[in-house]
Amino acid sequence: RSVEIVGLLQHLSDEYQLIAEENELSIITELPSQEVILLADPDLLQQAIKNLLDNACKYTPQNGTVKLKMFTQLRRISIQVIDSGVGIPPEDLPSIFERFYRVDSSRTRSSGGFGLGLAIAQQIVKAHGGEISVDSIVGKGTTFQICLPLKKV
Ligand code: ATP
Ligand code: MG
Repeated sequence: RSVEIVGLLQHLSDEYQLIAEENELSIITELPSQEVILLADPDLLQQAIKNLLDNACKYTPQNGTVKLKMFTQLRRISIQVIDSGVGIPPEDLPSIFERFYRVDSSRTRSSGGFGLGLAIAQQIVKAHGGEISVDSIVGKGTTFQICLPLKKV
């Protein structure tokens, strides 16, 4: 279906404002000022981004920031979730998209979770012909990026 992705992201960020406030985090958005139309399954796409926002809020200590950013490139869009949280050790990075894989949960304040969020997000992004990637520095923060093809509607 045709999905207006900027509005969808703004809506998600509003939804996470409350969760962020409860955890004393600030949510920042950096979105294009004009509409961007994608061909996608809106519910699945939302689920993938929510899984990243959930993680960003869960693995970022109080007074941290979570940024939701989007920009278009030539034929694709990039959605980034950037947090100032605990980070992921380099040796764990290759495994985090595997089902049930979790980095030592004792380092985080909320340890709940099955280790499925990223596996699901990756499945959804791949089903849309896109890619998901991660960059992280322990103690500084993590950036997840979803790239999706921008097809002419
Ligand atoms: P679930 O999403 O099923 O509730 P989960 O959050 O543990 O559980 P994933 O979302 O798949 O599972 O993430 C896998 C692991 O990757 C997490 O347990 C955590 O250790 C690490 N991780 C994911 N996102 C972040 C992040 N933004 N900052 C630090 N660590 C992260
Ligand atoms: Mg998760």
